[in-house]
Amino acid sequence: MSDCIFCKIIDGELPSAKVYEDENVYAFMDIGQVTEGHVLLIPKKHYENIYEMDEKTASELFKVAPKIANGIKEAFNPKGMNLVNNNGSFADQSVFHFHLHFLPRFDENDGLKVSWEQH
Ligand code: 5GP
Ligand code: ZN
Repeated sequence: MSDCIFCKIIDGELPSAKVYEDENVYAFMDIGQVTEGHVLLIPKKHYENIYEMDEKTASELFKVAPKIANGIKEAFNPKGMNLVNNNGSFADQSVFHFHLHFLPRFDENDGLKVSWEQH
């Protein structure tokens, strides 16, 4: 997709702080750093969202998720970590190339509302 910023990052047309790459996926620091160590993992193939993604790409992506999470854990020593994926603008998706957020958690009062309350 010629107008997709994440495709441009994969192609090297836009700069990024890469943390992992293989033939199928690319991981890099989120420019917004919602929490310290915030990383995005994306498939190299352009899919707008989870609804479009084929099973092979999904498995290639989630296959490396533990490696990415452990790398962040070792580098930043968080107390916990949320993996988040937004699909559609109603669900706060702003870049329409599928991406998985890795959000290290350090402070219970950080204001992030990405966990369900347990009852
Ligand atoms: P979404 O809201 O679509 O789930 O998340 C998009 C994420 O992409 C945001 O967290 C935003 O900070 C990040 N982002 C947007 N543009 C860029 C960019 O050019 N470089 C990097 N590294 N992250 C970006
Ligand atoms: Zn794209």
